[in-house]
Amino acid sequence: MNRVPVALQRRAGTFRPPTLQTLPVAVTANVAKIRARTRSTIMAVVKADGYGHGAVTVAKAAVAAGAGWLGTTSVAEASALRAARLAAPILTWLHPCGIDAGAAAAARVDIAVGSVDELGALVAQATSQAASRVRVHLHVDTGMSRGGCPRGQWDELIGLARRGQQAGRVRVVGVMGHLPLADRADPAANAPAVAAMHEARQAVRAAGLGSPLVHLAATSGTVTDPATHFGMVRVGAGLVGIDPSGTVEMRGASRLTAPIVHTTAAPAGTPVGYAGTYVTDRATHLSVLPVGYADGIPRECSPQAGVEIRGRRLPVVGRVSMDQIVIDTGAESFPAGTSATVFGPDGGATPTIQDWARWAGTIPHTIVTGIGPRVKRSTA
Ligand SMILES: *Cc1c(COP(=O)(O)O)cnc(C)c1O
Repeated sequence: MNRVPVALQRRAGTFRPPTLQTLPVAVTANVAKIRARTRSTIMAVVKADGYGHGAVTVAKAAVAAGAGWLGTTSVAEASALRAARLAAPILTWLHPCGIDAGAAAAARVDIAVGSVDELGALVAQATSQAASRVRVHLHVDTGMSRGGCPRGQWDELIGLARRGQQAGRVRVVGVMGHLPLADRADPAANAPAVAAMHEARQAVRAAGLGSPLVHLAATSGTVTDPATHFGMVRVGAGLVGIDPSGTVEMRGASRLTAPIVHTTAAPAGTPVGYAGTYVTDRATHLSVLPVGYADGIPRECSPQAGVEIRGRRLPVVGRVSMDQIVIDTGAESFPAGTSATVFGPDGGATPTIQDWARWAGTIPHTIVTGIGPRVKRSTA
């Protein structure tokens, strides 16, 4: 039998694999910043696995910090939160598999309905037993044309909701809109949506549906425009350190690290990576990190892109491969196993998700939601 010498086994097992670490304390700090800007109830939006940070981890930290509601796109996402014993009210609004009234009621999940057809189907499915009556938020289009009932059909939607409620099949507990322009940080840009929201609230009241919870703002509206707050704000990006309005410094809530797996000395004139788009201009050292575009490193990142190794910012050179990137470490030769930080909240030499977004010509949301499944997850 071939035995691997113990010393080699240890060395082989020494590397911490590429890891995305979520930092709940940052979520806590970000919720505190949000709370300082609004007295409305905070819904923690944890769709897309908590913007890549782990939906349960982010939800727990946000609820502990004072968020009163949770938001997801689907009942399946909501059920995962219930399975983790999160008891806060949950709203879902996109229903990628259609609406299953029974599943929603069983998971005690509120459903946003954005069209007459959707509400009609829900009312038809719902039983008239009060115990399983589906809690509904009427989702009205406030200028987005991306889901939400168009203005011309509000009366029909509200009339149908009233009849469904009278029949004991649904209960209207919310009215919801969404701001198309809040990241401009200009209240004038939000004014038409705010006015539409007031109108929708009035129409719901006039129909005898009482005063359900009204909610319109996401992160940028929350931090820039109190007129958008109504009874609740829905904050997702802000939880994980992203302010789309660019007006508030939030704390990054994750750190992506990867070990150097290979280091080599390279003379001047050495081409690096596919197509040799980078050629060393001096004798240097090259280190390989085992993360590539399949792991969410944007292939389209600019030559400014870099990572932190032992307190220094060092450039990513050559093309991003599917599984790996190459770092030019200059005169320094780092041994295999040395940890590199691809991004993190630390500042200094460590790139932020905002840096990566700039290098890739995108928004930080796509960086954090794009980290691939083979990157290990951990929580600080
Ligand atoms: C994603 C989402 C939010 C949260 O938006 P952020 O800008 O990430 O805070 C709020 N409302 C709806 C309908 C959403 O889809």
